[in-house]
Amino acid sequence: MENLAALKEQMAETIRRYHDKGWSPATSTNYSFRSSEQPEVIYVSRSGIDKSQFTAQDFMEVGFDGKPLPGFEAIRPSAETLIHCVLYQLFPQMHCILHSHSVYSVLHSAVAGHSLTIEGYEVLKGFEGITTHETTVDCPVFDNSQDMEAFSELLRREADRLTIPVFLMRKHGTYAWGKNLFEAKRHLETIEYLLECEWKLRH
Ligand SMILES: [Zn+2]
Repeated sequence: MENLAALKEQMAETIRRYHDKGWSPATSTNYSFRSSEQPEVIYVSRSGIDKSQFTAQDFMEVGFDGKPLPGFEAIRPSAETLIHCVLYQLFPQMHCILHSHSVYSVLHSAVAGHSLTIEGYEVLKGFEGITTHETTVDCPVFDNSQDMEAFSELLRREADRLTIPVFLMRKHGTYAWGKNLFEAKRHLETIEYLLECEWKLRH
């Protein structure tokens, strides 16, 4: 049986480490997970917390509509919580979503069209289901928006473009997801490594 307290601790440690990589400046970014016992509950990071100080107490509980669950009504969830809700609806087997505001993600998305093509790297095998470097992936790039209802609708409409478990938001950052924290970390670290390689190769 999963231990909720341990899951929160592992997530909090990941969030602090990613802050140290420069992926969540100035209290930005958000993260979530679901437990297998209560998959209808989304544990999402509270907004406005300095991610270098993030602890297991800094999660709040929301439902699939993004609204706070009983006991958390006094806390306003981050606007981007809706993105997490939509991703869990589109991919019900996924239990963890990670987000970064990394410099390489922002740089690529500033100059890319509606997707970024990456091919030939050994590390592509970090994405679930990819078993050889001899492959090409298309990472979608969606225009950023402050209207999360509209952005969520866009994600639903263009869900067939989500062929790898990551996407970029233009001049904003990366979203990555997985069946658990281990897999979501692998996916985020895979795309961030590839983004850095590609940027340095091209510039
Ligand atoms: Zn963000």
